[in-house]
Amino acid sequence: MPSAQDSSCLTLRKMPQFSLGDVIPLHLATVTFPDPHPLSGQTGEVFAFALRHETGLLLYETGIGCGNERLDSYYQVVPRPIGAELEAYGHHIDDVRLVVNSHLHFDHCGNNMKFPGVPIYVQASEYEAAQQPDYTVPEWVDFEGAEYAIVDGDTQVASGVRVMSTPGHTPGHQSLVIDTPEGTVALAGQAIYSKAEYERIRTTGAAPEDDPPPNPAEYLASASRLIELEPRRVYFSHDRAVWNANH
Ligand SMILES: [Zn+2]
Repeated sequence: MPSAQDSSCLTLRKMPQFSLGDVIPLHLATVTFPDPHPLSGQTGEVFAFALRHETGLLLYETGIGCGNERLDSYYQVVPRPIGAELEAYGHHIDDVRLVVNSHLHFDHCGNNMKFPGVPIYVQASEYEAAQQPDYTVPEWVDFEGAEYAIVDGDTQVASGVRVMSTPGHTPGHQSLVIDTPEGTVALAGQAIYSKAEYERIRTTGAAPEDDPPPNPAEYLASASRLIELEPRRVYFSHDRAVWNANH
């Protein structure tokens, strides 16, 4: 039987002060996939997401950085500055108080250096993987003033906001799960590549065939974890399409 203290804790539990509309997609770049990429010739988009949280602005992903000539020409990168994107929504880059990277490939951590002194949440296995040659652009990960918050597995990072370990695309991939009064919002990152793929896995359980993930078994298990959340809305880092429940 719960004590009086227990029940008062329940009644006093604070609901998040943010809603579905406080999750803001930021379009940070367009790329064109080169030969011999499986998606050769197609364009891809790079998104980050800001959350207007009661404690300040949280950021998931930081997109592609600038000035790497090899990447710029190989992927024909058309960048959209993150500061300008935030300004378009009435926010300033200095408002960001916490950053989460889904993983440390160059198109997800490229603007980390714009956040010295801000905690950047990364899985331990991802940070370790990023030390390998050719995994990422090392100077976009390790920069003066970098303050990585290294975590291991599912971890709450702010009230109503937690990272969920979703390996498969990379060893230490993580998604962001946000509890709003209107339902759960999942920022999948690249745990699931697109809305169409989310729908396909949800209805058939089948792994993608056109662009297979590095670790298909882990990828499917991670996708299943996200689907089992029964989210109200799901965003993807490389697809502007958004999955909504009941649509
Ligand atoms: Zn990646």
